[in-house]
Amino acid sequence: MAGKIHFIGAGPGDPELITVKGRKLIDEADVIIYAGSLVNPEVLKGSKPSAAIHDSAYMNLDEVIEVIKGSTDKGLKVVRVHTGDPAIYGAIREQMDRLDELKIEYEVVPGVSSFLATAAVLKKEYTLPDVSQTVILTRMEGRTPMPPKEKLIDLAKHNSTMVIFLSIGFIDEMCSTLISGGYDPKTPVAVVYKATWPDQKILIGDLTDIAHKVKEEKIEKTALTVVGGFLGDEYSLSKLYDKYFTTGYRKGIAGE
Ligand code: SAH
Repeated sequence: MAGKIHFIGAGPGDPELITVKGRKLIDEADVIIYAGSLVNPEVLKGSKPSAAIHDSAYMNLDEVIEVIKGSTDKGLKVVRVHTGDPAIYGAIREQMDRLDELKIEYEVVPGVSSFLATAAVLKKEYTLPDVSQTVILTRMEGRTPMPPKEKLIDLAKHNSTMVIFLSIGFIDEMCSTLISGGYDPKTPVAVVYKATWPDQKILIGDLTDIAHKVKEEKIEKTALTVVGGFLGDEYSLSKLYDKYFTTGYRKGIAGE
């Protein structure tokens, strides 16, 4: 019988931040294809000594699909390990579409995306009442062009919580565009380098000074920039836990 392939989100770095399901599948796999540029190799510890391990950083899409097809044809268990969660800048869709054409079965096991690990290490909440109830995940234009309606300058006008992937190399332009787009220059910003890895770094500033700090620390990759009032200290308390507020589970006490 043909083997099956599982796409697995490996989490942001800390090898304990993978799901139990993902961990088990890696331990049982005959063939492992992982994104070596970002996935912590510690995540692969525990795999079978006989497992064949391929680093997709050195492979193109055709080569990845060839390894998957060759292995599943032999009935082998294959895992394709992506960093964070594969649904965020993971290039998973093009692989799934090729597998559909080849009638190879697959399943996806989600992971902890780096944007969630970033909130955790910052000890912040992205959705504070009266500050922002919207989180924009985006990037700046690199080799992948931005759709015309998603330019950073246009997204900035919402002043929402914004998480910017893959763009730390453009930090100067990022900050000036966010200001031109409508954020107050004093809006707080955090840059988190390698969230949850042993060499993690956290930089805190605002739109006027963060770029300088990033350069001082020589951060050039594997970092997220998060922007917004959620990094500040002014917000309203939630209705969910408001003692005067009745929810589906609990009756509020009468107010004065
Ligand atoms: N699928 C991944 C994102 C892949 S794109 C996820 O869900 O996290 C790669 C980009 O993600 C990097 O350029 C960086 O911006 C961000 N990134 C990935 N891991 C990170 C980490 N541990 N800390 C900070 N940023 C990270």
